[in-house]
Amino acid sequence: MKPIFFILAVLFSFNVHLNAQTENTKVILITLDGLRWQELFTGADSLLISNTDFVNDTTALKDKFWRDSSLERRQVLFPFLWSHVAEKGQLHGNRNLDSRVDLTNTMWFSYPGYNEILTGKADDTRITSNDKFPNPNKTILEIANKDLRYAGKVAAFGSWDVFPYIVNETRSGVPVNAGFKLADGDDLTEREKFLNQLQPKVPSPWGTVRLDAFTHYYAVEHIRKTHPELIYVAYGETDDFAHDGEYDAYLNAAQNTDSLIKELWELTQSDPFYKDNTLFLITTDHGRGTQPLDTWKGHGSSVNGAGQVWLIAFGKGVSAEGEVAKNEQLYSNQIAPTISTILGLNDETTKMEGKLVPLKTN
Ligand SMILES: [Zn+2]
Repeated sequence: MKPIFFILAVLFSFNVHLNAQTENTKVILITLDGLRWQELFTGADSLLISNTDFVNDTTALKDKFWRDSSLERRQVLFPFLWSHVAEKGQLHGNRNLDSRVDLTNTMWFSYPGYNEILTGKADDTRITSNDKFPNPNKTILEIANKDLRYAGKVAAFGSWDVFPYIVNETRSGVPVNAGFKLADGDDLTEREKFLNQLQPKVPSPWGTVRLDAFTHYYAVEHIRKTHPELIYVAYGETDDFAHDGEYDAYLNAAQNTDSLIKELWELTQSDPFYKDNTLFLITTDHGRGTQPLDTWKGHGSSVNGAGQVWLIAFGKGVSAEGEVAKNEQLYSNQIAPTISTILGLNDETTKMEGKLVPLKTN
């Protein structure tokens, strides 16, 4: 072979290899349990931040999270989402700007919300409680894990101990590290061993939900070690602190989750397996109330507004729209079919109810 042809052949094969790799998009789905769109888009709530029923030290909390404009307030609460993500991605669900995201299930609490997000379809007949029962519906995690292309390349991490049932770990074969579970296996990293030591020594405020840092770092270690292609990380603190009526802890948890999401983004960008080739989708399982004021603590079908949610997308294949400021209506049941399509699981996509999320708008 003449040198020039050799060089061309090498370049060509390199290019083909690159193309094959970039088409193979990885997906990280993240949920923040019960985080209201109101805080996401307008920052700390003026009525709650100064209410001593819900805040221990209103002066300190205002110093940290109160600013005169809603744009500044949301920026201080979610610095990563309102800088990097607002520049590069899309934030849907600011109802003040006519962008609406809603649940299609009518339960407005967690299991039905996660079922809808993960299966692409509400199931108000069978998913009617938060009890620990194996989900009869197949999640997108299970569908991917049962496909030869993704078998063994799917993993889920959650702070709430019901996730192994929502994902139906037994039937789906998707490993779910959730609740107070430790990392298992005979190839644990030093950090996983340390997390296993630490988690039982840091008591959670709640019986069924661990602190999000454990969920997060178990996920980080697993991602580094095994390079899954579809990852689900379900943070939980925001909902539990809200139920406890602690608005200060709710805001602190929200800000902390923003930093955890930033870490996941930086992790993917520092690893050639994921770099510039990973789609992030972030949402919540339900909203919470606003009127009367006390209903911010709760949700469920009797709470006005608890079916209002939000959706964020950034990374591979997402056009930079920033905060969506146009009349639109999205639903939580669109997330699973969108992931299914991106992973090329087309037969399964057609069985889901939701349309695709418009990630590419131009
Ligand atoms: Zn809740």
